[in-house]
Amino acid sequence: MSAPRAPRSTVFRGALLVTQDAQRRVLRGDLRVEEGRITAVGAPAPAAEEEVDASGFAIVPGFVNAHTHVAMNPLRGIADDRELAGFLEVLFAVDAHRTEADVEAGARAGIAEMLLSGTTSFLDLYYFEDAVARAVESLGIRGFLGWAVLDPELTTQKGVPTENARAFLGRWKGHPLVTPLVAPQGVYVCNRETWIRAREVAEEGGTLLHYHVSETRREVHEHQTKTGRRPVVWLEEIGVLGPRSVAAHAVWLTGEEIRLLATRNVGVAHCPSSNLKLASGGVAPVVELREAGATVGFGTDSVASNNSLSMLREMHLGGLVQKNQRWDATVLSAQELLDMATREGTRLLGRESDLGSLEIGKQGDFFLLRLDHPTLLPARPEAIVSHLAYSASEEAVDSVYVAGVPVVRQRTLSRADWSSIRRAGEAAAESLWSSRPKK
Ligand SMILES: [Zn+2]
Repeated sequence: MSAPRAPRSTVFRGALLVTQDAQRRVLRGDLRVEEGRITAVGAPAPAAEEEVDASGFAIVPGFVNAHTHVAMNPLRGIADDRELAGFLEVLFAVDAHRTEADVEAGARAGIAEMLLSGTTSFLDLYYFEDAVARAVESLGIRGFLGWAVLDPELTTQKGVPTENARAFLGRWKGHPLVTPLVAPQGVYVCNRETWIRAREVAEEGGTLLHYHVSETRREVHEHQTKTGRRPVVWLEEIGVLGPRSVAAHAVWLTGEEIRLLATRNVGVAHCPSSNLKLASGGVAPVVELREAGATVGFGTDSVASNNSLSMLREMHLGGLVQKNQRWDATVLSAQELLDMATREGTRLLGRESDLGSLEIGKQGDFFLLRLDHPTLLPARPEAIVSHLAYSASEEAVDSVYVAGVPVVRQRTLSRADWSSIRRAGEAAAESLWSSRPKK
């Protein structure tokens, strides 16, 4: 199925615009996009090649999923109801059987799921990232793709992972939709030399570093036993903490570690569903991180531990857990939750000047939300942010644009056929599920 030519310019008439600009304005008016960028917001806009009556829709900046492993979609449900160590045992056993072709099939299925729920950018950590990059390119989402790095003796990758990551950066540098980056898996599989080399490769490539940190008490305890330091303190001591990096999870932190992440400008991807399902215990200190000045976005983690890639679910759950944990309904307001899923996510990626809000000059990354959906009643401007944070169904996401190009229209992928993506995903699942440990 070949992609239809995207119009050079499109104007959406009379939409409810959830701008997410500096004043967080919600206004009724026009949105115009030309050559991929937004050229008018709110006021009556000049004509365009394509005219869309958007009066029945809200237009919302696309969500940023700040931590996932998108190619794992064929593994949804394969390792439920286990703690992290048992979960990883199953996943590592299955991972050893993965091929580049089934990673691509899985990534296509995952990207389809994300687009159909309003996500336009995602931050990924996996291997065979060239296959994920091809899926990004063909389906038209924006992929920030981290090549997984482990110690050479602990990986099934051929060659040295940090050097594989460096080569990956070279292959995709400058691509309009793919941003290649370096992704050390975590302190439990990366030694000091691996971390330092990963940081160097990212800096030389002018790109991001993405990693898991302090997800469980066990990880923290084992690292402390081995090195005498908690993971975040240790990463600071070896010179890894710094800007242009995103730490996923960050559940078990001391006050000192919260301050370190904030002052070193390390972004945090908060993954409430995954933490709750794997019973990481406690609650990630999202409020304290934000108060300390850290940027915090939401990540779904993979569908093996979530089991969804929906950012709407993540906002809802993330907000409720923080409120309940603190006996304080005022923390993380609906507006703050939406900020974390949009603007803050783009800040984590270092792209806040280009993405994350409906403002003139920014990329046309947004989705149209059906205001007549039952989960959006009453569809009042004053309540739209609340509905996004707490009630809107993924089914209300009607159309999705990335760089002004329609990638979903009326809940149908524009550049690929879901039935063929589904068949390939099921075929990949067939062989992967048969390779899982039986116990
Ligand atoms: Zn993860």
